Amino acid sequence: MSREQKAVERARKAFFTGRSKSLEYRISQLKNLQRFMQERQKEIAEALKKDLKRSEFGTSLYETLGVESEINLALKKLKEWAAPRPVNKSLMTISDQVYIQPEPLGVVLIIGAWNYPWAVTVGPLVGAIAAGNAAVIKPSEVSAHTSKVMEEFLPLYLDKELYPVVTGGVKETQELLKQRFDHIFYTGNGMVGKIIMEAAAKHLTPTTLELGGKSPCYIDKDCDLTIACRRIAWGKYSNCGQTCIAPDYILCDPSIQDRVIEEIKKNIKEFYTENPQKCPDYGRIINQRHFKRLMSLMEGSSIAVSGEHNEAECYIAPTVLRDVKPDAKVMQEEIFGPLLPIVTVNSVDEAIKFINQRDKPLALYIFSSDKKVTLT
Ligand code: NAD
Repeated sequence: MSREQKAVERARKAFFTGRSKSLEYRISQLKNLQRFMQERQKEIAEALKKDLKRSEFGTSLYETLGVESEINLALKKLKEWAAPRPVNKSLMTISDQVYIQPEPLGVVLIIGAWNYPWAVTVGPLVGAIAAGNAAVIKPSEVSAHTSKVMEEFLPLYLDKELYPVVTGGVKETQELLKQRFDHIFYTGNGMVGKIIMEAAAKHLTPTTLELGGKSPCYIDKDCDLTIACRRIAWGKYSNCGQTCIAPDYILCDPSIQDRVIEEIKKNIKEFYTENPQKCPDYGRIINQRHFKRLMSLMEGSSIAVSGEHNEAECYIAPTVLRDVKPDAKVMQEEIFGPLLPIVTVNSVDEAIKFINQRDKPLALYIFSSDKKVTLT
């Protein structure tokens, strides 16, 4: 029996003891997880620094604060969430006592991604524990240092039979996917999302797929450009653009393109200094494979700001590309890096058409002072 199969069997056996169902037990495990997040801040921050050159401040802001607030919310609401809810009677149930009783699903699988590895792996774990499930936790092998911290330290705080951490890459994940789960929660790219759904279908297992997309920013001529560009620069270059809902590209009128470039440039300097490579707040691309992918995405487009890079360090400076053509390489896939293409359009209708012709984005950002435009 493989290591993965054993972990799932043990989790199921532990689930069948019924211990994860009691509210007291769920609360005690959530409190242990809370203690883990507090006591292991140092290990968490060090691993993220090695994986993504994430700053200590960035670690709290983007990862631990969010997970801790999820835990606090669950602790506060658990009793209410787990309580039976009244339902109106119908002709079919007129002589019955009717209510909805939330029940744990059973053994769930959480497959995490590397870009915010705590938020997307331990975040869903909070929900799984709160709902009384057993959960097999599979962190991303790409953020290898973080994955190691999860494997080493989580079992010191949590019930290791109910919530095992299984590390490894594609082979191990595929071995896990052969097992039967009662829910699969996956975060990552859409190509692998299809593999997950296919594997889940074999057991009719419901899935939650947290995928990516190319999230557009439309900047209207009638808007406060200073505010718009400041917000876009923050969203684009945080975590080096490796954020699922990062603004992927800008759509704007040709007449404002130069001002947009100038404003973004100003913000890059203010946020990350003249030399982002030396700035402690600016991260790195996760690995050489993604570095090369990003460098090749720039091919054929004109660089308006920076474009500097250093392969050995997986460093790509905050970059802006101008007059990008809709068929440019950088417009064909989610960028997931610090490249910001500007595509010019002549009206809001053209922008809408442009967006609708492509795959559904994950988020859409619109900057306009005109309510008619924002509500279109
Ligand atoms: P990744 O490479 O870490 O892969 C995610 C998980 O899938 C890993 O645990 C990995 O082991 C597993 N995996 C990879 N290939 C596999 C295969 N062939 N078979 C089975 N399992 C496999 O992460 P990624 O896909 O590079 O993540 C980035 C993507 O995730 C981006 O598209 C981003 O937008 C998206 N994302 C979405 C959210 C959200 O909340 N919607 C959050 C973060 C990231």
